[in-house]
Amino acid sequence: MRLVLLGAPGAGKGTVAKMLTEIDGSVQISTGDILRAAVRDGTELGKKAKAYMDAGDLVPDELIMGIMRERLQQPDAAKGFLLDGFPRTIPQAEQLKTLLEELGIQLDAAVNLDVPREVILERLTTRRTCVQCGEIYNVKSKPPKVEGVCDKCGGQVVQRDDETEEAIAKRLDVYNEKTAPLVDFYEKEGLLLNVSATSSDEVVKAIRERLGL
Ligand code: AMP
Repeated sequence: MRLVLLGAPGAGKGTVAKMLTEIDGSVQISTGDILRAAVRDGTELGKKAKAYMDAGDLVPDELIMGIMRERLQQPDAAKGFLLDGFPRTIPQAEQLKTLLEELGIQLDAAVNLDVPREVILERLTTRRTCVQCGEIYNVKSKPPKVEGVCDKCGGQVVQRDDETEEAIAKRLDVYNEKTAPLVDFYEKEGLLLNVSATSSDEVVKAIRERLGL
């Protein structure tokens, strides 16, 4: 399947993407994970992106499009992909459309995960992430078996630098201003699937029904 996952930070895009990869081997492509790995490894990309990320701001479109142009052409993406956290702005969505046309690929749907703001805030402040594999935990509902250690890969499980209260508020404002307009964009493209996303299982069910999987 080839999907764009839309929704505010904390709406559950990463969790849903991981569940969907189990269905048909489509790969999760998370620009946030790619950027965090680049920051951790101290690459040129990471150096350019870090200050924007820590402040809860978006990384410039040119950097993101460079990453995605390359990533979408890697062999594993041929089976299908779940775009998690990309596109985030109208120019990114337009450039993605052109890129996919060039590659002769069509999206199946853009899924909008709709979650009330209170739920988002609660999720983000209690969320923890593995620095190594990106696995997502929650101190209340899904803690790792050993505190601070990833069940899957043994990596360190931490609170992200951009999950302080201040950065979260900024990310939600940025989402409303820059990313929420993508819902209309994909509605006009005839690709939008709106789902109430308080349960990830329900989201996966709605996607399977829409795609006939
Ligand atoms: P995420 O893990 O998707 O919440 O992304 C974490 C941070 O990475 C965001 O707050 C942005 O600073 C940056 N980022 C991730 N994806 C994008 C994107 N498509 N466009 C611009 N910035 C992005």
